[in-house]
Amino acid sequence: SVPWVRAVAVLPGTGRCYSLCCLPAEVAVEDREKFLLDFVEDNEVLRLGDMSIRLNLQAGIYRLTGGDQEPFIHMLSAADIAYNEIQGTAAVVGVYDESLQQGLRVRKQIEDCMEQALRDQEFQVWCQPKYDIRTHRLTGAEALVRWHSSVMGDLMPGTFIDVFEHNGFILRFDYYMLEKICQLQRQRLNDGQKIVPISVNQSRLHIKEENYLDKMQRIADRYKLPAGCVELELTETAFGDFEQSEQRGHAVHVIKELKKMGYSISMDDFGSGYSSLALLQTLPMDIMKIDRSMLVSAEESPRAKSILRNIVDLGQRLDMEVICEGIETPEQEKFLLELGCRYGQGYLYARPMPMQKFADFIENQGETPV
Ligand code: C2E
Ligand code: MG
Ligand code: MG
Repeated sequence: SVPWVRAVAVLPGTGRCYSLCCLPAEVAVEDREKFLLDFVEDNEVLRLGDMSIRLNLQAGIYRLTGGDQEPFIHMLSAADIAYNEIQGTAAVVGVYDESLQQGLRVRKQIEDCMEQALRDQEFQVWCQPKYDIRTHRLTGAEALVRWHSSVMGDLMPGTFIDVFEHNGFILRFDYYMLEKICQLQRQRLNDGQKIVPISVNQSRLHIKEENYLDKMQRIADRYKLPAGCVELELTETAFGDFEQSEQRGHAVHVIKELKKMGYSISMDDFGSGYSSLALLQTLPMDIMKIDRSMLVSAEESPRAKSILRNIVDLGQRLDMEVICEGIETPEQEKFLLELGCRYGQGYLYARPMPMQKFADFIENQGETPV
């Protein structure tokens, strides 16, 4: 019932072939989306002779704004941006808006600047202390990056880590952070100063990276730090499709080898995904780092509280060090103490601080005033 025009076009430079539908603007938004959903459904199965192939079709919608003066390539690119946004998700239809275009501009700028930034040491290592929440004594820290870009100003990791993961730059970047922490620990040991274990985040891409273990061994050999001085934080998404036994076996191998080299292994953001328990069963991790979202939910719902209590207990029974991240209030601390959680990290104790400031902080015992 919706009038439409159909054509096929190729977007230059992408090699992608598109099926185009142009719908009059007066068609209501719901009808437009319904039309596309029906279209996708009708064309989902491709028949070639006796064979039928199931296709994963997705569509991007762009609403014409520039009247008949708008270049065709612009319309096509905008629909393509909307389509790209839903790739890898279960959504069938994505709708373009200006913020998507803005997001792409930022992404491009980040990519243009990142190599030079690494050479110019624009990435600064900050450290956030970790505490024993029963005694308020400093027990360690997590290294977190801050980017002081000469072009874009100060950036938080939430703005650029995803971009680095997307284009693979994160691999080199993570080694840079790891080396900075190893240098700090080695220097302090040489100078006879006190040290605490410091964790660095490791992107999920390392698990599949060629020569990951060789590179990590070389770093371990170069700094010769006592075991446990450096921890690696990996999120559960690092282990990808854990259902497949080959991948599972590989992940177990990687973890065991890293431990032999003296790195402790921490499961970051525990409880934020869906496969946490399966991973616990198989991977010999040393530390369970409970995601802030679990803490927040547990404060609100008795069921979530019961789950958190049992998770803390489970971690301890598995001989893991259990730490909760994102503790902001004394009430949360009290709550965690009741649940038997021993370690914590969060704004209540200390915010992330530049690495050098953290080095001074250790000297003063780093005891929190709370
Ligand atoms: P993460 O590893 O889970 O780090 C904890 C994040 O929680 C940090 O955010 C930290 O500043 C924040 N945080 C700490 N205490 C509190 C609190 O009490 N309340 C709240 N609301 N937040 C708190 P940040 O520094 O923005 O880092 C975000 C994420 O970026 C990190 O999450 C980590 O996944 C990633 N990231 C940071 N540095 C690196 C890095 O060097 N390599 C990699 N691969 N990822 C990194
Ligand atoms: Mg982390
Ligand atoms: Mg975390």
